[in-house]
Amino acid sequence: MSRFTVRRTLLAVLAVSATCVSLPAFASKDKPVIGFSIDDLRVERWTRDRDYFIEAAKKLGADVNVQSADGDTAKQVSQIENLISKKVDALVIVPKDQATLSNVLKEARKAGIKVVSYDRLIKSPNVDAYISFDNERVGFMQGEAIFKAAPKGNYYVLSGDPGDNNAKLFKAGAMKALDPAIKKGDIKILGEQSVKDWLPANALSITENVLTQHQNKIDAFIAPNDGTAGAVIQALAAQKLAGKVPVSGQDAELAACKRVLAGTQTMTVYKPLRLIASEAAKLAVGLVKGEKFTFNAEKAEGGIEQILLDPVVLTKGNMDLLVKDNFYTKEQLGLK
Ligand code: BGC
Repeated sequence: MSRFTVRRTLLAVLAVSATCVSLPAFASKDKPVIGFSIDDLRVERWTRDRDYFIEAAKKLGADVNVQSADGDTAKQVSQIENLISKKVDALVIVPKDQATLSNVLKEARKAGIKVVSYDRLIKSPNVDAYISFDNERVGFMQGEAIFKAAPKGNYYVLSGDPGDNNAKLFKAGAMKALDPAIKKGDIKILGEQSVKDWLPANALSITENVLTQHQNKIDAFIAPNDGTAGAVIQALAAQKLAGKVPVSGQDAELAACKRVLAGTQTMTVYKPLRLIASEAAKLAVGLVKGEKFTFNAEKAEGGIEQILLDPVVLTKGNMDLLVKDNFYTKEQLGLK
């Protein structure tokens, strides 16, 4: 049994063992409606989260209304307001900037709508549950793999959008992995910058500038996800350094997996998206029905109940795992 199967079984058991503590809120409705508000579909993973979520919700008899804010905080707020006025039964939200949602979530609570914070934490008392991966662990995996590839030298650290709570956790995890070598003096952190909106274009200009500033004398890059890693590698390639300087990533985007196989990106992190999407759909529908869940991690910041799933580190050596988990075909990855 694979690790995913174990986890899947565990969560299935948790959901099945849920007991009904109150009457279903949508007892009079044939189908609950879930509003799925996503920060930005330009990042490949979220299109998969969306598709898997819709598929899982349908199986549970729910309808989904998907809204993408295209990375715009004000647009996300007004899309959520609109979903509230349409009287959805639950909201599942990937926040662009969690701090901007406190008022609209008060409205949701007043309207009796259940709220699930998806992948990124929203620190609001009006959130009913949070589901994500162990994000500090994701960052630790990045730092650990890059340290293995470059145990000594000058590092540059990029982090994700400052409005995303995950960005802090990824960076904290990576720094934890590098800390002993930094203290020993083996690794020197030349600088750190966050990538606004997680946009590869922003990561590209940061990398071009820091390479110039340090006369290309950078031995390793921590890049927080595959989109930004692609940009770092593009800037390295322009200096004929791609494949010579280790770069981290996460998300197992197809282009990134190909770069890992080609040796220009050191690693990526696979987060089983089918699993988070289907567990989130169960959570949303279950909360609407008044079911009680058992959560598998200590409460998140702000006392919010959370379920955390396991990320998996991917390198050249275990890429076939994605084929086994039906994430990509062998052909897509170019594996024999
Ligand atoms: C997610 C990453 C994603 C990033 C940019 C983070 O919150 O956890 O998987 O790459 O946002 O969208």
